[in-house]
Amino acid sequence: TEFRETNVNAIIHDTLTLLEHQFKTAQVRVDIALAPELPPILGNAGKLQQVFLNLFLNAKDAMTGGGRLRIMTEANGHVGIAITDSGSGIAPEHLQKIYDPFFTTKTSPKEGQRRGTGLGLAVTYGIIQEHAGKIHVESEVGSGTTFYLEFPMLRKPA
Ligand code: ADP
Ligand code: MG
Repeated sequence: TEFRETNVNAIIHDTLTLLEHQFKTAQVRVDIALAPELPPILGNAGKLQQVFLNLFLNAKDAMTGGGRLRIMTEANGHVGIAITDSGSGIAPEHLQKIYDPFFTTKTSPKEGQRRGTGLGLAVTYGIIQEHAGKIHVESEVGSGTTFYLEFPMLRKPA
């Protein structure tokens, strides 16, 4: 895998463009607050795009009937990303399993959903590890979910 200087804001922007039509159809409103001058990370653009695609599509799947997706980036010693949906939330007893390969709750998908493979977050976790990053989740059933990502900056700040 090739790792090079990568701008996370640009990848998020590209991924959202890819999903624009799907979000519109699903009545998902997207709010983005991307930090201007976000420092670059050492990354692989294709793999990072896969991360955001997985997280954004999971958010969409959780918001049956529509909702709001908020995406925030900030520089706080690391490159931080927060992805918040107003969806179903994750049951507390599932929180420890969501990164397991083949864990899915989407076995009989509702209208407009895809059947789950349970691979999205397992792959996402692996890619974030490869980037020396971190992921964690906070979720409340009936109100929504936030995934927090953190990647080391390519250069130490002056
Ligand atoms: P899949 O999407 O194929 O089911 P994932 O690995 O992407 O597999 O996700 C595993 C499970 O984690 C999902 O089936 C779902 O139960 C839960 N999950 C992941 N993201 C969210 C989210 N944003 N809101 C609610 N549940 C989620
Ligand atoms: Mg998924």
